Amino acid sequence: MFVDSHCHLNFPELKSQIKDIRAAMQAAHVTHAMVISTTLEEFPSVHEMAMSYDNFWATVGVHPDNETLEDGVPIQEPTVEDLLTRAVLPKVVGIGETGLDYYRLNGRTITQMEWQRERFRVHIRAAQACQKPLIIHTRSASDDTIAILKEMGEDARQGTAGKPCAGGVFHCFTETVEVARAALDLGFYISFSGILTFKNAQAIRDAAAFVPLERCLIETDSPYLAPTPYRGKTNTPAYVTYVAQELARVKGVSVEEVARVTGDNYFKLFKGATR
Ligand SMILES: [Zn+2]
Ligand SMILES: [Zn+2]
Repeated sequence: MFVDSHCHLNFPELKSQIKDIRAAMQAAHVTHAMVISTTLEEFPSVHEMAMSYDNFWATVGVHPDNETLEDGVPIQEPTVEDLLTRAVLPKVVGIGETGLDYYRLNGRTITQMEWQRERFRVHIRAAQACQKPLIIHTRSASDDTIAILKEMGEDARQGTAGKPCAGGVFHCFTETVEVARAALDLGFYISFSGILTFKNAQAIRDAAAFVPLERCLIETDSPYLAPTPYRGKTNTPAYVTYVAQELARVKGVSVEEVARVTGDNYFKLFKGATR
């Protein structure tokens, strides 16, 4: 069995095909999937997906670089309370995706991105309060991501004063071995996506070789980032098997071993999810 630890099945292009997508998952032995929230506005559709199917689970969070809805209306900026009231709902097992994304600064400087850093802190506070793991998205911002996690006490080696760490996963990992080491040191898991299969992704394969399998998750981030040989097409959870195959190749172990260990890791991390 394979588990897709990060996908966006509530997005219209996937939701409209959900029957076929589930049939393809079953045929590929992909037994579970995590549906990830990116705004509070979409959260009801994320949650509904998890409530409709036994093997789907959900998270609540606001993606770091979301600023407006499709119609240009500003999104709701989450408070700790907003996250916590949704985190207690059935089948909500994680907080995110959250983190920092400095890829599109839209003319601003990193100093002017304090709103993202504050949004990230709000998610960390909520995760610590409800003891659900963080799904971390970091792009062009790894130094600040690690620094804020440390500043907020997210260091499994030390713990926070009086409150345990939330922990979590760095999703769709595209960083260096050094960033992987820093994330592992803080106690986080690392999730690899279809990017691992891309020809030009040797640096990510190097990072994957470095991360112990006991700390790896696999994901599709569908509908984005379809793995080779489907690169450029719509991605779906069934394709997480291609990520597993590539991770097995990089690590020199069987694909069954990757499936078993990453599946175990998923249920260890997301304690609210059950097999
Ligand atoms: Zn992401
Ligand atoms: Zn995502």
